[in-house]
Amino acid sequence: MGTMTTLADVLEARTALAAPELVETISNDRVRCYACGHECPIPDGAVGVCKVRFNRGGALHVPWGYVGGIQCDPIEKKPFFHAHPGALAYSFGMLGCDLHCSYCQNWVTSQALRDPSAVSPPIDTSPRRLAEDARRLGARVLVSTYNEPLITSEWAVEIFKEARAANLLTAYVSNGNGTARVLDYIRPWIDLYKVDLKSFDDRHYRQLGGRLEPILRTIRALHEMGIWLEIVTLLIPGFNSSDDEITRLTSFLASVSPFVPWHVTAFHKDYRMNDPENTTPEMLIHAAKIAKAAGLNYVYAGNIPGGVGDLENTWCHECRALLIERYGYFIQQYRLTPDGACPDCGAAIPGRWGRQFEGQLTSTPFLPGSRRLRVF
Ligand code: SF4
Repeated sequence: MGTMTTLADVLEARTALAAPELVETISNDRVRCYACGHECPIPDGAVGVCKVRFNRGGALHVPWGYVGGIQCDPIEKKPFFHAHPGALAYSFGMLGCDLHCSYCQNWVTSQALRDPSAVSPPIDTSPRRLAEDARRLGARVLVSTYNEPLITSEWAVEIFKEARAANLLTAYVSNGNGTARVLDYIRPWIDLYKVDLKSFDDRHYRQLGGRLEPILRTIRALHEMGIWLEIVTLLIPGFNSSDDEITRLTSFLASVSPFVPWHVTAFHKDYRMNDPENTTPEMLIHAAKIAKAAGLNYVYAGNIPGGVGDLENTWCHECRALLIERYGYFIQQYRLTPDGACPDCGAAIPGRWGRQFEGQLTSTPFLPGSRRLRVF
């Protein structure tokens, strides 16, 4: 290992055939992949835009049998604020992505096959081992994250089946570049879905290698399917931070549902995008004001703990009572009733709540540890 070619070779050996729902033969040995919004037509011997799904002899091969990395995160980091607050989210990443955002914060795994300096070797494992490891560590949720989960949906579904059998919830942390077919395919096996809505401008999405329209369609479809949905937007000064863009973006979300939580988070200089300034707390607070004016009830500001006033907390949409108090990912107070209602006015609070707050195993991410990884 150590060179780009070798990593691609290693991954090529770890594949299965694509699910029939996610592939179509277009001509003799040409196939179309439906795992993400690119819907790549792939000739024999070629790879898709994501570089991890490829056509060999007219059959679409997809990633299988490994993970790129595992980390234990507080569920607040994903971020999910309306799903089992305080829970441990056992998170696995694969390799590759269908977009190429220059500011990506997970570039070691997402761009491993594009950028020679981004090499991350795979760890062989099985769905059962992952689910067992998650249980052993006290996780409540098993999450596909760090790179784009849609492009490895067959493997995620296999893992999620074991997760469900082990009484775990399942989740995607995704860019939302989906298709009707892939959403139908994962639907029976997924509980929570976070979409990273990066912009409301199609030109910006094209800069990142995607299009806005499939992402908006995915957001609407997920909500209609009843999958618990939260949206995050990394506010990048000068890229997506104009009042006009934030107004259009949050008005769209409010048209899907005024109860979809929206997290607006701070950009820190990273990877190759060094030009924009870091997002200030004032910028987040300003964007949050726009979102509330657009009709969103649950608006959160992230990445600047203690710096964004009351925008880390959950407040009842009816009576404005404090429901959950947070500092960063740390839960300081939890007041919801066992039925997930406001204790003061009785309003049902949208989300997936446990009967009670079950404590918090960690408010900072940690690695399962090399000793645990070896048991794979
Ligand atoms: S997952 Fe997306 S990028 Fe990859 S081959 Fe399929 S359609 Fe193309």
